Amino acid sequence: MNGLSIKGMLGALLLAVSGVVQGNVAVPEHFSARAKELLADSIELAPAAHAVNVVYFLGNDNEPEPDYERRLSELLLYVQQFYGKEMQRNGMGARSFGLRREANGNVRILLVRGKKSHRDYPYNGGTNACLQEVAEFFRSHPEEKHSDHTFILMPTFHDEQNGEKSPGGVPFYGYGRDCFALDYADFDIKHLGQNTREGRLLTKWLGGFAHELGHGLNLPHNAGTTSDVALYGTPLMGAGNYTFGMRPTYMTRSSCRLLTASETFALAGDETDFYPKGAPAPVIEAASVVPSADKLVVRMRVSGCAFVNLQVQDPPFQVNRDYDAVAFCMAEEKLPGTDSVVYSLEVPLAELQGLQNTRKGEQALEVLLTQANGWRYRWRITLDWSKLTLDAPLPLPETGPLYRGY
Ligand code: ZN
Repeated sequence: MNGLSIKGMLGALLLAVSGVVQGNVAVPEHFSARAKELLADSIELAPAAHAVNVVYFLGNDNEPEPDYERRLSELLLYVQQFYGKEMQRNGMGARSFGLRREANGNVRILLVRGKKSHRDYPYNGGTNACLQEVAEFFRSHPEEKHSDHTFILMPTFHDEQNGEKSPGGVPFYGYGRDCFALDYADFDIKHLGQNTREGRLLTKWLGGFAHELGHGLNLPHNAGTTSDVALYGTPLMGAGNYTFGMRPTYMTRSSCRLLTASETFALAGDETDFYPKGAPAPVIEAASVVPSADKLVVRMRVSGCAFVNLQVQDPPFQVNRDYDAVAFCMAEEKLPGTDSVVYSLEVPLAELQGLQNTRKGEQALEVLLTQANGWRYRWRITLDWSKLTLDAPLPLPETGPLYRGY
């Protein structure tokens, strides 16, 4: 009922004045009853410095799905709250990705029409043509670009394989700082959590919407520790795209920490120059890993980094084969009088029950190094439990040069 509160009135006033507010505003009057119910326990989010650009992309021959502005606004605000609540639970503050708002409270969704038929922007091979046209749109409308991160939604194809009952045909994945999801007429929050055909379909596509958005905001896949999975369910950046809205789904502390260095999570007043060209990579000055019967002890001395996370995973060690990577945040201790920081972590093997190879076979430790400017680097250490000597330091690979991206 914050529509009548002082805060709500102030929010409405701010909206009327600027047309753009990130952070907390009253739930718009024209939202559906179900959306009002689901957003009633919204937390107040700290105002964001930037916003993710939301684009609704069409070909030259199709139209948006009915009522897309209200439906997608409700879903985006719900997902924004989910991220915000998980950030808060994980100790990162009540903050989420910024969204621009229209005067009526809807999320600002930019309608961009491509030059070709919608069928020329398919799941396989349609991405670059779409991104080029979105980039052209931002070149001619620079005032509409509020960060380097763009979330692109396309209506489902309407053909033999894809349609309202089985949406698809269009790109649906993260792609660097861009990400893609789809829209269809029943993509409506009123179906959330219902064990009906529409409810199950909504979980699939809204879970994917929230998960792919995570990729577009800088997140890699990860899995939960044994303790967290028992407490909170399935991580969004693991298989949470299949559980979101239907069964308990959460964000790992590792994901939340990574988001603190995403441009879209920067707080109002933060003047960081994100993703600058030519910025130097972090330097790993020393590292040691000691495996023992019940834990892995990792210590690293690093300069040029804001924080370091670590993921442990089974093979194969390839793109999109990392849903099993159990993620941790390393503790840090600044070394006085230097730029170096010592990062350390004890990984209890009991927290790796989701992995098959613990104490048995090959595993990788993926060290994720994040800079305050948002650049991310990865360094991989592999070990084989069947060959190593317990309580002795592992022989480690060369640390440099580090490559960019998680
Ligand atoms: Zn994914």
